[in-house]
Parts: sequence; structure tokens; C-alpha cells
Amino acid sequence: MMTCKELIHDFLMEYVQGDLGAEARIEFEKHLSVCPSCVRYIDSYRRTVEMTRELGSGADAASLPPPPPEGLVRAILAVAPKPPHA
Ligand SMILES: [Zn+2]
Repeated sequence: MMTCKELIHDFLMEYVQGDLGAEARIEFEKHLSVCPSCVRYIDSYRRTVEMTRELGSGADAASLPPPPPEGLVRAILAVAPKPPHA
């Protein structure tokens, strides 16, 4: 099982760019299915990317990776257990 740090620092960019290998992708999604905090992180990351694009800050926005598909985040949120202190 990968850690939150590995997921965010080593795999997130590759994941959103579609560069993650099949096995790493399975591990990545397995982690998300048990880790609501990473799901929230990715969701806020995706929103930040979208917001930056909407602001139209030119080259900066263009250099950001594409956000992960919204359907995936929704699906994960739907099955992810609620954090005890939410
Ligand atoms: Zn995590």
C-alpha cells in the first residue's frame, strides 16, 4: 500500500497526466478508496487547476497538468468511508 506522501508527491502528477502504469494506477486507486483525505486533496487540487484556468493566467495555466476526471473523484467519494471527525 502506498503512503499519502507517495501518492501525492510521486504519483499524482503522472496520474492526472495519464502516465501512470497499470499497476501503479491500481495501487493509486486502492489508496483513494480507503483514504478520504487524499480524495479531498485531489478534489481541491482539481478545483485549483480549473480555477487557475478560468482566471486565464496564460502560460502558467497552460503548463498545469489536466485535472483528474470528475466522474472518478465522485465515484471514489461515493464509496469512501466518512472520516470520523468530519
Ligand atoms: Zn492518503
